[in-house]
Amino acid sequence: MIPFNKPHMTGRELHYIAASHAKGHLAGDGEFTRKCHAWFEAKLGTKKALLTHSCTAALEMAAILCDFSPGDEVIMPSYTFVSTANAFVLRGGVPVFVDIREDTLNIDENLIEGAITDKTRAIVAVHYAGIACEMDKIMEIAQRHGLVVIEDAAQALFSTYREKYLGTIGHIGCLSFHETKNIISGEGGALLVNDERFVERAEIIREKGTNRSQFFRGQVDKYTWVDIGSSYLPSELIGAFLYAQLEEGEEIIERRRQICSSYRKQLSILEEEGCCNLPKKEGEGIKGNGHMFYLILPDLDSRSRLIAYLKERGILSVFHYVPLHNSPAGKKYARICGKMDFTVNLSERLLRLPLYHDLKDEEVLMIAETVREFFRKKA
Ligand SMILES: *Cc1c(COP(=O)(O)O)cnc(C)c1O
Repeated sequence: MIPFNKPHMTGRELHYIAASHAKGHLAGDGEFTRKCHAWFEAKLGTKKALLTHSCTAALEMAAILCDFSPGDEVIMPSYTFVSTANAFVLRGGVPVFVDIREDTLNIDENLIEGAITDKTRAIVAVHYAGIACEMDKIMEIAQRHGLVVIEDAAQALFSTYREKYLGTIGHIGCLSFHETKNIISGEGGALLVNDERFVERAEIIREKGTNRSQFFRGQVDKYTWVDIGSSYLPSELIGAFLYAQLEEGEEIIERRRQICSSYRKQLSILEEEGCCNLPKKEGEGIKGNGHMFYLILPDLDSRSRLIAYLKERGILSVFHYVPLHNSPAGKKYARICGKMDFTVNLSERLLRLPLYHDLKDEEVLMIAETVREFFRKKA
């Protein structure tokens, strides 16, 4: 059976965990966590990187940083993971969903301005499949209306938009190291603070609303409760695991990009023949990270049949998000602005093929051949 995903280990994770065990520092913000922070700050070019338990936790911190009050609105796509919306609902905020673009499944930047009201405080740009949203346009709208831009870059570590790393373009970026992402620590995430004005408060929110980080740096002589917050910092063991992954990050991404190009080469014939669509080709300042390779089938029925066809032949493929605006909590806590045609239509037609670092070249060829065979048999 070829699984859909298989977490990749570099081999040094246990070594680094053993090192922090030997050192006896197991709580957060030890040596490896600091190394991870420094790595993100130097490599990605963010003002402040802070490891969190998850991207969900980073999004919750972002919502606190935006000072959401009950009734404040945040514009985002409905085609995303629940945490993108839930983080703001926890603060009493109202997610306002706009439709996505047909070519990237990212938020349609041309619909954002029409969704702005006097209650709007933020925009969340979700970089689906690690492919950038139209950030220039989004930043320009935000600036004109005084809104905060949060990048949900959970899937997008190492991807770029006009030479800039995703997660570093908005005021705040959120990353995930969940084992289904490219670079992993089991559960894990990071908050990237790109706007100086949020740096100090981000540290406080992460440390239960205390100024403990300043205390450890010797900037204050005792620490105390100064703001709202929670415990968002992971154990040093997570930092140790993650650091081993970051050291090999470039290679992991490169391998995944290779698999994507191989899939594209093998399957482009299907697009030419009008059987299904492939992800939009990169270009025009947009470079992905090989996070995902998907097909857009003609309809829900053909997608279900292809999933079953592949499964019978030992290949696990999956669909992805069920749009949030149609979910029970989405109906209760959020609202839509405009039509959701692409969101509804594309979410029913999208199928993700197996993609992980240790997937072999012959397996990619075999999977692609099986997909082609499905369409040949159908013809
Ligand atoms: C995976 C994912 C998340 C959640 O990440 P966790 O680290 O599991 O909390 C949020 N948003 C998007 C777009 C994701 O893909």
